Amino acid sequence: PVDFTGMHITVAGLGVSGVPAARALAGLGARVTVVNSSDGERERAQAAELEPLGVTVRLGDGDTLPEGTELVVTTPGWKPTSPLFLAAEKAGIEVWGDVELAWRLRGPDAAPWLAVTGTNGKTTTVRMLASILEAEGLRTAAVGNIGVPLVDVVLGRGQEGEEPCGPYDVLAVELSSYQLHWAPSVRAHSAAVLNLAPDHLDWHGSMAAYAADKGRIYEGNTVACVYNVADPATEELVRAADVEEGCRAIGFTLGTPGPSQVGVVEGLLVDRAFVANPQTAQELAEIGDLASPAPHNVANALAAAALARAFGVRPASVRDGLRAFRPEPHRIEHIADAGGLTYIDDSKATNTHAAEASLAAYEHIVWIAGGLAKGATFDELVQKSAKRLRGVVLIGADRALIGEALARHAPDVPVVDLGRTDTGAMSEAVREATRLGRPGDTVLLAPACASMDMFVNYTKRGEAFADAVREQTATGGADT
Ligand code: ADP
Repeated sequence: PVDFTGMHITVAGLGVSGVPAARALAGLGARVTVVNSSDGERERAQAAELEPLGVTVRLGDGDTLPEGTELVVTTPGWKPTSPLFLAAEKAGIEVWGDVELAWRLRGPDAAPWLAVTGTNGKTTTVRMLASILEAEGLRTAAVGNIGVPLVDVVLGRGQEGEEPCGPYDVLAVELSSYQLHWAPSVRAHSAAVLNLAPDHLDWHGSMAAYAADKGRIYEGNTVACVYNVADPATEELVRAADVEEGCRAIGFTLGTPGPSQVGVVEGLLVDRAFVANPQTAQELAEIGDLASPAPHNVANALAAAALARAFGVRPASVRDGLRAFRPEPHRIEHIADAGGLTYIDDSKATNTHAAEASLAAYEHIVWIAGGLAKGATFDELVQKSAKRLRGVVLIGADRALIGEALARHAPDVPVVDLGRTDTGAMSEAVREATRLGRPGDTVLLAPACASMDMFVNYTKRGEAFADAVREQTATGGADT
């Protein structure tokens, strides 16, 4: 590990990864300055937490590189084109993300990483994987974008006020494209790219740049690069990667698997990759072992199983781990059945690719959509889903983009544009959706957009939906 004593380090951003990074670096003797462009109540509270540790916090200016900076550590939200990074580049100063920092802080006996990225399904897959590894009796945790900050995990610290965490045998690590962009030296034991669809293009600049950042997850893998057979772009990323000798490309598929693949045969998840005799398929689990048998969920389970098998996990543990796994809230979460309608919260569908998966799971849908489009277009999504739409209720800042796509490809579907971007709009959206629905239909919140125009995050958006549904169905509003 690097000796940080006395080093001038600038941390770009506070928040869930900036605060732990600053705390960790100060603890290692570095001279830390945190810069943050906004200067609100929350930022001041975080500053007050860091200052007693000797950290300097500069609020209200995120653009100027502090004098004497030797290294910049950034939180994932900051765009690569931010003036701070341009200044660092000009001065020949390295920029590390929070994940790079965590990687560099690992000790010599640190647990290997099984890493997962993709446009959608990361959290689900990483949690499935951790559940499988636990069933095998391994000491593990699901980390990365979730749970205890990665820097704290590698330092064995656990969250504030909680028990120290670790030691671990292996970590199931979720990595976003942002994190991968700033994590050049991370080398996973094995890694998976679940799928690739346009998302966060405003951050990365282009689809090619986004794909390239995702592809970094395969760099230096030692045992397996897991890709999605149905998504050839993921296989291309494996081919482009520079891996250790003997590292294998392993495909996952919802169809019958070929050699070096995991897949599905007659309702069974099977392995033809990590078997002694490649002519035979090893049974891993039944689709019925999964809490949700939606196709994208089976795909996630296969990817998790492939990574676990690459780590040497036994087939029975794959089954036990998948059986024990429970999905997270706001991911195709069933909220209520009332008045003949089923209400589903998929607030986590923050992009078109995720929304497409959930729209494909129901036959007749009243769709609640809209929010921040992040540079996406909606033509393909609307084209593919048009047949299933009973009606659409639009909310949020970029709702017109969806409205225009609907006018082009689904002109007969009734659309209610609420013209609202306030938090209270969700309640009206649920009421309108209920009105549009017919018995047997599904009212589906799958916004295909980010939530920050109306809500703090997708969790709050999902809760607003669920609250409105419960309120209106309880008062009989949805029964009329
Ligand atoms: P992430 O961590 O990548 O955001 P999540 O597991 O939280 O992924 O799921 C995000 C959203 O994507 C959910 O709305 C879910 O329904 C959908 N989803 C999950 N897995 C997949 C997949 N393999 N392909 C497409 N959509 C998916």
